[in-house]
Amino acid sequence: MKVTVDETLCSGCGVCEEVAPDVFTMNDAGVVEVKINPVPADLEQATQEAADGCPSGAIIIEA
Ligand code: SF4
Repeated sequence: MKVTVDETLCSGCGVCEEVAPDVFTMNDAGVVEVKINPVPADLEQATQEAADGCPSGAIIIEA
């Protein structure tokens, strides 16, 4: 899967980094960056959980 973060929606809450630290990281500006894209199969479930848990709906997953 491919994943992107809409920075205009992201509030910087850090939930995605907690759920999937191998995929998402907070940069120095408090904005999430995607570390690995496309997401390998073994990280897809955590990535989906992060997207589901994002309170801003900022994580966009493409199959
Ligand atoms: S969970 Fe969503 S709003 Fe929170 S830091 Fe991650 S992308 Fe941003």
